[in-house]
Amino acid sequence: MTAEVFDATCREFEATYVDRLTLTSGIRSTDHNQAVGGVATSKHLIGMARDYVVESKESGWTVEALEGLETILSDLFPSFKLYHLGASVGRPTIQIHVQGAPYAP
Ligand SMILES: [Zn+2]
Repeated sequence: MTAEVFDATCREFEATYVDRLTLTSGIRSTDHNQAVGGVATSKHLIGMARDYVVESKESGWTVEALEGLETILSDLFPSFKLYHLGASVGRPTIQIHVQGAPYAP
């Protein structure tokens, strides 16, 4: 996936789920990446990764819908990770990391 395709894919994802997502991290400088605990090989350094928080709004994904979210992400991106930040009455707050390249072995 090229940087252009990654950017276009992110824009498509953001436009589709605009009422549920907040972009929290895109491209990072080396200093910023170290400050937030990013690995030295982070794709954020080359603009090939973004992070989002899925808001725990009334319209948000429920715990039961998480499998659907994983399917959406796996269809769009070469790799992604989900981090559970907490949950309230069955509505989780989730951070999503997506990147335009597979994880290194
Ligand atoms: Zn990330």
